Amino acid sequence: SPERVVIHAVRGKGEEGKKGNEEDFVEIGVLERAAAPMLLHEGAVYLHDGEPYLVERLDWDEGHAWVRPAAVGYYTQAISSQEVRVIRAQEQLDIGGARHAYGPVQVVSQFSSYRQVKLHTHETLGLGAIDLPEQVLETDAYWLAFGDDLLDPLRAAGLWRSDPNDYGPNWAQQRDAARARDGYRCTSCGKPESPARQHDVHHKRPFRAFGYVPGLNEAYRLANTLDNLTTLCRACHRRVEQGQRLRTGLGGLAFALGSIAPLHLMCDPRDIGVVAEQQATADGLPTVTVYEKIPAGIGFSQRLYELRNDLLRGVAELVRRCPCPRGCPACVGPVSEDADDSVDAKALTLALVQACLAGVQETHSFVV
Ligand SMILES: [Zn+2]
Ligand SMILES: [Zn+2]
Ligand SMILES: [Zn+2]
Repeated sequence: SPERVVIHAVRGKGEEGKKGNEEDFVEIGVLERAAAPMLLHEGAVYLHDGEPYLVERLDWDEGHAWVRPAAVGYYTQAISSQEVRVIRAQEQLDIGGARHAYGPVQVVSQFSSYRQVKLHTHETLGLGAIDLPEQVLETDAYWLAFGDDLLDPLRAAGLWRSDPNDYGPNWAQQRDAARARDGYRCTSCGKPESPARQHDVHHKRPFRAFGYVPGLNEAYRLANTLDNLTTLCRACHRRVEQGQRLRTGLGGLAFALGSIAPLHLMCDPRDIGVVAEQQATADGLPTVTVYEKIPAGIGFSQRLYELRNDLLRGVAELVRRCPCPRGCPACVGPVSEDADDSVDAKALTLALVQACLAGVQETHSFVV
């Protein structure tokens, strides 16, 4: 398929609804195909020479988009989720329960929905679905995965929040009831359930916030009430959870690494991407991946692997020195609106980084 998408705009304003008349379209520009899912999906507000256009149609296969001038009072924000598939580790090193590695990967991105955001106030006006195939980027990445040796002490201290939950004994029943109530459709994008895979059921207020302890209380009952449950397709669910996962040590570390890495690589921050996964596809371990956005990679990943200790120290310093009390966009990332307020993302991130650095120091003293 073509490398670029050609953008056609209808000439003149306010011609909407003029059926029967051939409308006059004129080419106003082209866009890299890779950017099209984010900027030219149907329903997007596309800016051209500072003027807003509404995207009416995107022909993904042929590489054409049709837009119409529209003075809407909002902009759009496409929402994607990402999954990393490791092809192989070129080199890998286990230090104190942390596994550092680099090598070729596939980064699979799925744009599933978009938000209409009101100008100036930034409030969400509505959500829409994006219906485009997965995008696969073949590139190189550096990744950092956490094993139980490193996580168990953090778990014991209450400083690790990224384990999958035990949703209590009524979960299967409540889950089925929620799916039936929602008509077996995703409540975010409307996609119907397929025979191959049931949709997920998501807790609007995070399950963790209810403080269920098996054998000790019955807090799962409140967490699993139907009012707190909603049916989501896999893509929408991943997107929602990614928003919430920012309030964890894993998300905080990923965010901070994304700010620190370009300084060490002396590259444009847009040349790299960061993904935090609660369970990586390859080995099921919680993993943070920094990947190169330039297809096939240009050596950044190996460099990050070599610089791993400097990066971790950089993250620790960035987070420690930030004057915010519990994490902010300057250190561990933005706070999602529906996140659990009791979570101190800053402390969780620092604990995780310090656990990694403790391993580094032990290795050194062992060598000496
Ligand atoms: Zn969905
Ligand atoms: Zn969920
Ligand atoms: Zn901060």
